[in-house]
Amino acid sequence: MTSYPPLHMYIDGEVVSGGSRRTQAIFNPATGETLGELPLADAADLDRALEAAQRGFRTWRNSTAQERATVLSGAARLLTERADELARIATMEEGKTLPEARIEVMMVAGLFNFYAGEVFRTYGRELVRPAGQRSTVRYEPVGPVAAFSPWNFPLGNPGRKLGAPIAAGCSVIMKSAEETPASALGILQSLYDAGLPKNVAQAVFGVPDEVSRHLLTSPIIRKLSFTGSTVIGKHLAKLAADDMKRTTMELGGHGAVLVFDDVDVDHVLNTMVGAKYRNSGQVCVSPTRFIVQEDIYEKFRMGFAERAKALKVGNGLDASVQMGPMANARRPDAMERLIGGAVKAGARLHTGGERLGNQGYFYAPTVLSEIPLDADIMNEEPFGPVALINPYRNADDMIAEANRLPYGLAAYAWTDDVKMQRRVAHDVETGMLGINSTMIGGADAPFGGVKWSGHGHEDGPEGLMACLVLKAVHEG
Ligand code: NAD
Repeated sequence: MTSYPPLHMYIDGEVVSGGSRRTQAIFNPATGETLGELPLADAADLDRALEAAQRGFRTWRNSTAQERATVLSGAARLLTERADELARIATMEEGKTLPEARIEVMMVAGLFNFYAGEVFRTYGRELVRPAGQRSTVRYEPVGPVAAFSPWNFPLGNPGRKLGAPIAAGCSVIMKSAEETPASALGILQSLYDAGLPKNVAQAVFGVPDEVSRHLLTSPIIRKLSFTGSTVIGKHLAKLAADDMKRTTMELGGHGAVLVFDDVDVDHVLNTMVGAKYRNSGQVCVSPTRFIVQEDIYEKFRMGFAERAKALKVGNGLDASVQMGPMANARRPDAMERLIGGAVKAGARLHTGGERLGNQGYFYAPTVLSEIPLDADIMNEEPFGPVALINPYRNADDMIAEANRLPYGLAAYAWTDDVKMQRRVAHDVETGMLGINSTMIGGADAPFGGVKWSGHGHEDGPEGLMACLVLKAVHEG
């Protein structure tokens, strides 16, 4: 049985904890039990990390493609060996079910393996020039990266923050979420154990605003990579702009799901209900606004509620559980505000709408319909186990609703009509679109949004390119 590991930071190759540092308690969201005490960085810790990241960058940018590939593929192999142990740690600190956590470990292993190959394909160009002249376009690592990742994918997010920069030859100071530190440290450990020099990737924790201000005002950091809410993303983008740092911003969404009346309703429900309540809905690409054509609306909302009600909610470590708790105390509070507000505004509550149990942060799988468009929940990312289902007359109305919000991360559409599939693909403003599918990612696929959902991509060749800068060299 895996026990929860001691917590620390990794700065310049040293395990850092204790001293006069402030600490933060880490909780198991299923039980409320304290798992450990996390040390928080002070200004001297952050300065040390910056100086080490500078040194780490100078050496790692000169590493060979083979050296980088060996580290990444070695870490992927170690993650596969450690998958069960890491999954248990992630479930303990974040709450998601064990199978979901295990998939996350394997997703990181897949990403590291992908980048182990992609590093050999970081080609430049040579331009046509007369004899004696030479012009080349080359890609170089952008420099030390400050990477801030959230708690909802405690293993996957740190994996994304580390894989591409390491493949590109950058160094990284990672501040992953304070709520889920052990998972992030597990990912970093796999890279160290595979031979990554320890000043190339470091882990700090702290008061988020203190850490981000300190790192983003340092000229050593050349890129910000952030995953989290739009509100914090806008704040950090402004800080980064002051020093013209490059940015990759993976921000919030409000996933639209267009369900046209030619579909097999039971098939769509069997797929989408699982996708909705995965990780208690705390997923940036979660299907959220179900935009359903009138003729199938009644059957759809009733079928959704029936399936949601039947889900087994409990501790993610229990093999029979289908949905765990929410990750922290802020989330059930947010559900009460958003769902309560919608019901007050006239929405119909079909199931859920309440906290569950008397320990941990459980919230029942919830289904609302006929929600007024001006209710907060129809405009703000709910990030929780709630499906919002409204009826629409035709494709024009459905596409208009999908594009109504300033978000554009993921959208989904269900129809067998090929013309309609093409229309949706053309007209819906989104970074990722699943047509008759919820599979919208992969190690080789760019992951990212448009509008307020951010800019830049992670994963795929695009994720690697985002860690490179271009230099044109002309020799006379
Ligand atoms: P939040 O915006 O306060 O925090 C999100 C993440 O950003 C956390 O990991 C946090 O530590 C970090 N963060 C916050 N302030 C920061 C700062 N000044 N500098 C650096 N990092 C900072 O939100 P939260 O309460 O943790 O979650 C609430 C909302 O965040 C959700 O409703 C959802 O909209 C959004 N969220 C989105 C994602 C995503 O994958 N896009 C992930 C988690 C949360």
